Amino acid sequence: MAHKKPFHVMIIPTLGCPSSCSYCWSSDERSPIMTMETVKEMVEWLQTFRDDPITFTFHGGEPLLAGPDFYREALSLITEGLRPRKIAFALQTNLWKMTPEMAQVLAEYRVPIGSSLDGPKDLNDLQRSAGYFDKTMAGYEIARAHGLSVQFICTFTSYSIDFKEDIFNFFLENGLTLKLHPALPSIKSDDPDQWALAPVKYGDLLVYLLDRYLENMDDIEVRNINDLCRCVFTGRGTVCTYVDCMEDTFAVGPNGTIYPCYRFVGMEEWAMGNVRDRPTVADLAGSEAGKRMRAFKDMVDRECKSCRHIRYCRGGCPYNAIAPSGGELLGVDPHCIAYKRIFDEIADRFNKEIFGSMGMGSACLSSGPSEGAKPGMMALIQKIISS
Ligand code: SF4
Ligand code: SF4
Repeated sequence: MAHKKPFHVMIIPTLGCPSSCSYCWSSDERSPIMTMETVKEMVEWLQTFRDDPITFTFHGGEPLLAGPDFYREALSLITEGLRPRKIAFALQTNLWKMTPEMAQVLAEYRVPIGSSLDGPKDLNDLQRSAGYFDKTMAGYEIARAHGLSVQFICTFTSYSIDFKEDIFNFFLENGLTLKLHPALPSIKSDDPDQWALAPVKYGDLLVYLLDRYLENMDDIEVRNINDLCRCVFTGRGTVCTYVDCMEDTFAVGPNGTIYPCYRFVGMEEWAMGNVRDRPTVADLAGSEAGKRMRAFKDMVDRECKSCRHIRYCRGGCPYNAIAPSGGELLGVDPHCIAYKRIFDEIADRFNKEIFGSMGMGSACLSSGPSEGAKPGMMALIQKIISS
């Protein structure tokens, strides 16, 4: 039997959003809402596009603006239309529009939810918008009451980085999993770098979080650190930033246009085709946007050739590399500095511990740290392996 290669389809029901977060680059208040006709066209396209397992993520804008009827019908059409294929769902939302009816529909399909909180209420509302925290927490309570799993993404900006300790403690004290995201230059803003987190600071932040995580391993999950450690230990990327996403990720915008990822939705120069035309894998790869994504991959093979982390970093995120320069391929992901820093730190600390514990010629994951090494990497690996 041929090997199945799972892929990821991001569905953007609308780019509209009721919030107006300071650093947002992906909402558009005039955006329409995807029709059921487009959902049907998408399912028909996917029936022949590839027969691999698919994870669908509903993203935005704010995807819950589409309303419970949209999800009731869309989830059923996708599940029925692609049977017996293995499919999974996820949804990224600010939770403001969560209602008991919506939660019930999502619970029926076991849709895990990712939401966003930037830390304690005052800090969060300053960065996102007044009233954001309370609206998100109200939606969180409804989601939890219906048994939905909710994890938060925390965006660190050039402003909030100075409060990293308060932010970490907020997640720790509230028993919340921490997944962080560095604010990106907003290419739709007049001052794109105002909130963006500089790559050097991002690297410092990752090392800070590694240390705090090691001190509090039993009481918090820091998803990014888990993912980065998994990269180093398995030798391959486990999240989109650290793999060649261009082969296995696509996004479908409100009118059925296909893009390389949700980050490009609404940028017409990044349109690869439309679901109503049922494009093949070769059609998408041969589009101008597809060729530009491929050029990124080729550039990574050249530019990162001598980097010890190339196998599980793959040059980072193509959007980060390409979008701020208006589509020109000037280099790999500017966060390279941060990736190198944290990958070096993880690999070096682990080597130090493992070789320190090999005094008698044997390595053991449960051995203690060697003298001079920061403690805990082996315990962290054990935790990640067993989770
Ligand atoms: S473009 Fe960036 S965010 Fe989008 S799938 Fe690729 S790595 Fe992930
Ligand atoms: S760390 Fe930098 S040089 Fe190394 S693979 Fe990643 S982007 Fe390339």
